[in-house]
Amino acid sequence: MSRVLVIGAGGVGSVAVHKMAMSPEIFSSITLASRRKAKCDAIALSVKQRIGVTIATAELDADDVAATTALIKQAQPKLVVNLALPYQDLAIMEACLAAGVHYMDTANYEPRDEAKFEYSWQWAYQERFKAAGLMALLGSGFDPGVTSVFTGYTAKHLLDRIDTLDILDCNGGDHGHAFATNFNPEINIREVTAPSRHWQDGAWVEGPPLAHKQSFDFEAVGPKNMYLMYHEELESLAKFYPEIKRIRFWMTFGDAYLKHLEVLSNVGMTRIDPVMFEGREIIPLQFLKALLPEPASLGPTTRGKTNIGTIATGLKDGVQKTVYVLNICDHEEAYAETGNQAISYTTGVPAMIGAALILTGQWQGAGVFNMEQLDPDPFMDMLNRHGLPWQVKTLDAPLAF
Ligand code: NDP
Repeated sequence: MSRVLVIGAGGVGSVAVHKMAMSPEIFSSITLASRRKAKCDAIALSVKQRIGVTIATAELDADDVAATTALIKQAQPKLVVNLALPYQDLAIMEACLAAGVHYMDTANYEPRDEAKFEYSWQWAYQERFKAAGLMALLGSGFDPGVTSVFTGYTAKHLLDRIDTLDILDCNGGDHGHAFATNFNPEINIREVTAPSRHWQDGAWVEGPPLAHKQSFDFEAVGPKNMYLMYHEELESLAKFYPEIKRIRFWMTFGDAYLKHLEVLSNVGMTRIDPVMFEGREIIPLQFLKALLPEPASLGPTTRGKTNIGTIATGLKDGVQKTVYVLNICDHEEAYAETGNQAISYTTGVPAMIGAALILTGQWQGAGVFNMEQLDPDPFMDMLNRHGLPWQVKTLDAPLAF
């Protein structure tokens, strides 16, 4: 029985808190804090109506380390689950150290003024968390998160040696809008407009954004175009699995999404540097975010499924083998259960699981950890029991591209 403080009342925070409330034997007391208390209260009402559990709410600017430390001391959680934005990661880690509690998130720290997608800033906290006897768990969402655990499971149970790894992220959902992003628009657009990068023979290979396309037939979705991209889990997978020769990340995008993105980029709306507008500075991407639908509002209209998994080729008992570990998630079922679409669901459920494993002591350690450093088995077991069942397929041959 343990107390938890969740920071961030977006789509992911909403799913995580609903799922935590369904396991009161693990999460004895839940506090949800965010920039706007009204958003926390709306989620608390939904949790009360759907599950019958009362959660506490609070208003918090998590960029303010002193305010966050004070709230932690007042709420007395064993763990802080950061589901705000990547900009808040370091401030919340500082507050956890100041208050003496464990830390967890789903996305690596990002400076506001440059899109970096790297772990260096958070890995730099290793000695401080270790000295304090506290755990900081990084990236307990789907990707990073479940895909990292799928890789750990593949290395532990399915292959003796992994030579190549491909992460395939397909959202076959349709939300009915001409253009919307299914998680935070600012972070999403920073991610997809960045140069592509993959790991090959011990070095990064860079290319232009969204230039390398392949078609892939996804179970339960059908054939989709997917694009080679950089994604943050590549960095930690390359670090913790040095034997893997090639690691790539692919994400599907529809033609209409890409057309809108191209136009928005061409006119400068995706820029993250300040520009002067009517006598004051604005960041074009932040202005664009204000115009786009909130990801949490897409739930009622989104139909279709997500299919996200890892394809690894390597050796098993001396013979080459290719294994595909994947999860399929239905947008409408996710919405019916928690009031949020599958992108928030596939991130919020793993956030709940990572938190549960820390609180129950099944995952423990002092220092900063990425998901693939921990035993995949209890996590894989909970995925099956909490709404994200997975399957393993053996493919006849490695990917042909
Ligand atoms: P949203 O934008 O919907 O939610 C973010 C929430 O954090 C909002 O409620 C926002 O408040 C709040 N917030 C922002 N700044 C602050 C602050 N300074 N102090 C307190 N609260 C703040 O995003 P999502 O729910 O879609 O995503 C949440 C996180 O999950 C992001 O970091 C995202 O990158 C990550 N993610 C990870 C994935 C994975 O697979 N690993 C996949 C998808 C998302 P307000 O409502 O007032 O703006």
